[in-house]
Amino acid sequence: FNVPEPVNEPVKAYAPGSAERKELKAAIAEARSKQIDVPMYIGSEEVRTGKTRVMSPPHDHKHVLGHFHEGDASHVEQAINAAMGAKPAWENMAWEQRAAIFLKAADLIAGPYRAKINAATMLGQSKNAMQAEIDAACEFIDFLRFNVKYMTEIYSQQPPVSGNGVWNRVEQRPLEGFVFALTPFNFTAIAGNLPSSAAMMGNTVVWKPAYTQIYSANVLMEVFKEAGVPDGVINLIFVDGPTAGDVIFNHADFGGIHFTGSTGVFQTIWKTIGSNINKYKSYPRIVGETGGKDFVIAHKSADPKAVAVGLVRGAFEYQGQKCSAASRAYIPSNLWEDVKKYMLEDLATIKVGGTEFFSNFVNAVIDEKAFDKITSYITSATTNPITEIIAGGNFDKSKGYFIEPTVILTKDPMYTTMCEEIFGPVLTVYVYNSEHFEEALELVDQTSPYALTGAVFSKDRYAIELATQKLKNAAGNFYINDKPTGAVVGQQPFGGARASGTNDKAGSMINLLRWVSPRTIKETF
Ligand code: GLU
Repeated sequence: FNVPEPVNEPVKAYAPGSAERKELKAAIAEARSKQIDVPMYIGSEEVRTGKTRVMSPPHDHKHVLGHFHEGDASHVEQAINAAMGAKPAWENMAWEQRAAIFLKAADLIAGPYRAKINAATMLGQSKNAMQAEIDAACEFIDFLRFNVKYMTEIYSQQPPVSGNGVWNRVEQRPLEGFVFALTPFNFTAIAGNLPSSAAMMGNTVVWKPAYTQIYSANVLMEVFKEAGVPDGVINLIFVDGPTAGDVIFNHADFGGIHFTGSTGVFQTIWKTIGSNINKYKSYPRIVGETGGKDFVIAHKSADPKAVAVGLVRGAFEYQGQKCSAASRAYIPSNLWEDVKKYMLEDLATIKVGGTEFFSNFVNAVIDEKAFDKITSYITSATTNPITEIIAGGNFDKSKGYFIEPTVILTKDPMYTTMCEEIFGPVLTVYVYNSEHFEEALELVDQTSPYALTGAVFSKDRYAIELATQKLKNAAGNFYINDKPTGAVVGQQPFGGARASGTNDKAGSMINLLRWVSPRTIKETF
């Protein structure tokens, strides 16, 4: 099929004095200067319930960016009805029309909406300019363009054998029923991708974003509308989780869920779906990317500077609020002093702060609940004799939810912060005997229930081979001599297994295949 060949969207540098930096600064100033009123979008309606909630920047929680209108169970019903109403026309539309809409959405983000979506992500989710650019702009553009390409590949796959009076073919139908997209705060690109990838394949969607991402979700919705997504195809609702779940998972037309969020919520959803299984027309598609406790293990042959840089970037970019963030490190005793020195040098150059989006590496964590949870881990480590805080450890929520990048050194490889997902700027290091690499690999594999990302640093090919084999099931995205974050669409399909999700690789054909239910047709002449 003839669709534009996707290439990864180039990352803009926002150099001082550049036109792109001026434009982004203007968009931030414009957003800060006014308060917006965000309705739910259900079918052709903008729904304002009058029950409003405040949206504030995590780094400046007294500032009001605007309000959104919260709904109840009746709005979930309305959104399902709108999705089911829009479904026949949408799924019968030629795929080229759907492709054109999402390609246009990508072009809108790449051009006229780039500054606006980045500014919304910076203010609403406290990303710095670079983290916003690689997420809300580049990754979302890549999701849209690459998914269109994968979609054409899916539609062109046919059984290899026909003939002699028989014509075999496969029709890629969308799912019967609606898709529920439940999206996280930490990536605007994921919030946009979960509803749009299902919609692209002919499904209609009820989309419930995290309350902490609604400010940029509103811009995504504006883009979808301007790109031509018809009313009812993507319905955006703001309803609390239990209320929404109660309506959705009891509905006969529930066709599937596209989820990114916590392991606990996903497991509850899975059980609920299981207990309602006889209510549905089909077995619902359950696609989820959940938690991580992502590791970095260095071999004694590794370059200590590369390890240190990988750790600092992997653990602290976007305040460690990535499912992929490095959060437990296994460093060989022969390298530890050097790795520590380089890490501390690097950390000394890192700025923590709110509005200097172009120079700060670390900003605030998303909300007070996250702040309290993350800092409780730091406080326990401060008072525990087997742990030592070797960097950071300070926090302050008076203006914004700021936590210094914190490195905990532990003598116990099973210490809480080596095992539990923290989802914040906290890295725990365990130093192992450099001669016991294989035992250290065992530890890596067995310490946590998660298996999302992980990295090995080594110059020794046998060690790389050993790690690759021993850690086969410990990570869905495995990095050799690089940090475990920053998977790029079209390059490293993303997702993990074990407690980290269903491993339906975001940004790949595998994921799009989950949103179709093929019908095989055999015709004899
Ligand atoms: N895909 C992102 C990365 O590779 C992480 C996504 C997430 O945090 O859910 O860093």
